[in-house]
Amino acid sequence: MSWRETLGVTPSAETPYTHNSQNTQNPTEQANCADIADSAHRDAEQESSKLLEALADACKGLAITPAEVKLALAAEDIDDWRKGAISADTLAAFARLLVQRREMDQGKRPEHYTEQATCKHCGPIWLWFSGDVLGCPWCWNRAADKPIPRPCSIHCGDCNHFERINHPHLGHCAKGEPEAIAGLWDTDRRYCERFLPRPQQTHNDQPRPARAETKR
Ligand code: SF4
Ligand SMILES: [Zn+2]
Repeated sequence: MSWRETLGVTPSAETPYTHNSQNTQNPTEQANCADIADSAHRDAEQESSKLLEALADACKGLAITPAEVKLALAAEDIDDWRKGAISADTLAAFARLLVQRREMDQGKRPEHYTEQATCKHCGPIWLWFSGDVLGCPWCWNRAADKPIPRPCSIHCGDCNHFERINHPHLGHCAKGEPEAIAGLWDTDRRYCERFLPRPQQTHNDQPRPARAETKR
């Protein structure tokens, strides 16, 4: 049964294409083209539903839907999956990472981030190992102006958002964080998810989101 019969479209019901008088394609050729397009469309639909099935397995027990994971896959990823280069385990790991990233975007610390580290651009952070790093997963929060949960308190005086006034110790928070009537005392310790260290400018010092890289 052809796609026309399936859809109940008979040849007599079709309006001939008259806009372009140069269109010399005969009805048989048109039908062939339509069949090919329809077949390609059905193949793509089948493939999409297969991918969603695979993603449904990957999303089991996670607070994310297969459609959301599919949306996050790049065209190259889908191509690789089609070629069998992405395993079910990899899809599951990708889904878990997406959930983790989503939680981190909301300022939530992943369970396995149990160590205190210091990112050059973000300041004190939670990570899965301790030490100093040049870039970290929280850099994405910093770049998007989202909160970063802190493993310790900090001094406002060390923060890039601290705007010093004409006083040896007082200033205000450019981020609008709560402060006393007189303002913030630079050496007071406080917990702050908006803290960002003052950049130490060097000729090749470009703050950017990056993977965790350990300082040498
Ligand atoms: S962002 Fe936080 S640490 Fe920075 S000045 Fe404001 S209150 Fe202080
Ligand atoms: Zn960072």
